[in-house]
Amino acid sequence: MPSGPTHLFIPGPTNVPEVVRRAVNVPMQDHRAPDFPELTGSIFEDLKTVFANSTGRVFVFAASGTGAWEAAITNTLRRGDRVLMARYGQFSHLWVEMATRLGLDVVCLDVPWGEGVPVDQYAEHLAADPGIRAVFVTHNETSTGVTSDVAAVRRAMDAAGSEALLFVDGVSSIASIDFEQDAWGVDLAVSGSQKGFMLPPGLAFLSVSLKALEANAAVDGTVDGTDRAMSPSYFSFASMATANDTGYFPQTPPTQLLHGLRASLDLLLDEGLPQVYARHYRLAEGVRRGVAALGLDLCATDPAQYSDTVSAIRVPHDVDSGDVVRIAYHRYRTSFGAGLSKLAGQVFRIGHLGDCNEVMCLAALAAAEISLNDAGAKIELGAGVAAAQAHYSQHYLEETR
Ligand SMILES: *Cc1c(COP(=O)(O)O)cnc(C)c1O
Repeated sequence: MPSGPTHLFIPGPTNVPEVVRRAVNVPMQDHRAPDFPELTGSIFEDLKTVFANSTGRVFVFAASGTGAWEAAITNTLRRGDRVLMARYGQFSHLWVEMATRLGLDVVCLDVPWGEGVPVDQYAEHLAADPGIRAVFVTHNETSTGVTSDVAAVRRAMDAAGSEALLFVDGVSSIASIDFEQDAWGVDLAVSGSQKGFMLPPGLAFLSVSLKALEANAAVDGTVDGTDRAMSPSYFSFASMATANDTGYFPQTPPTQLLHGLRASLDLLLDEGLPQVYARHYRLAEGVRRGVAALGLDLCATDPAQYSDTVSAIRVPHDVDSGDVVRIAYHRYRTSFGAGLSKLAGQVFRIGHLGDCNEVMCLAALAAAEISLNDAGAKIELGAGVAAAQAHYSQHYLEETR
């Protein structure tokens, strides 16, 4: 039955560009071959550019983004270490769960979902407690569509004279929203392949500062008499670094995904990272204007923190956002993100990151409108699309003036 493509507007996995899909479609190869380092060397270099990490190093593991979280924690912290975290959505919540399960002493600040990292509260805790070993930030909270100010957290840490490591989850921001590891003093930044990097799922990225590498050296293989080291094995930075130094991996890497990564890094760097970030802002802003024109609110409360990769949209009180998502999928072959956890039924999410353009965003808004309408929401069909069209059109009018 010919029925056209299913439209993917979730915040990951994102649409894979045709050139990347073709790059992945290669025969199996020998990952110990003498010329294998030609592929990996340039990938490590270019990943550092995307993370804006000029002094540290990057690690690539076969895992999803969650694996990168685990690698970050187990390589640099010990059980019982006190860490400062905040919970303002499902992903920051899951990170707290992991840190707790791994045995960290988590100081967790709960923030209403829709807000970002509580910088002022972080500052108070850091000033009062010099024993905090690590500070965690979910840069872009994908469940609420909120982008937090990582640089402000670094300033708060410096003002408090904190020696802690700064961990940042950039799974749904890096390669789409400006991220400056050097400038923001981020010690461990994590990401994954299936969002801004426009690849299939399966690669976990870590970008690690020199300070975090020193922390790793102090933790790894320590016999500190307290048995607090987590001693990762598959995720060991040390084994990965030793193999990577000659261009190889300690285990069998997903060679096809590495070819895809080479192609996606080429796309990102050829477009230029500032241009990639500007495109995401422009596309997101059109979606936001569309949402506003429909009389709907975003879950994010502060316009300064609106996410350029995902919009979480509140539905009217008498509408179930789960119905909107189901109708979009079954009737209109369109995938939106559902409301997660405590936002179930209240929001649906449009992912507008990665390989995305104006017409795709207009299509997403059109599908959202008709699905909202069918789910019983009183909205004016076409109003959101028109507002977004006006925004996109205005951009090009100004550009050609
Ligand atoms: C998607 C996502 C994750 C989890 O990544 P997986 O690849 O599903 O393990 C973590 N954090 C954020 C912010 C995400 O958007």
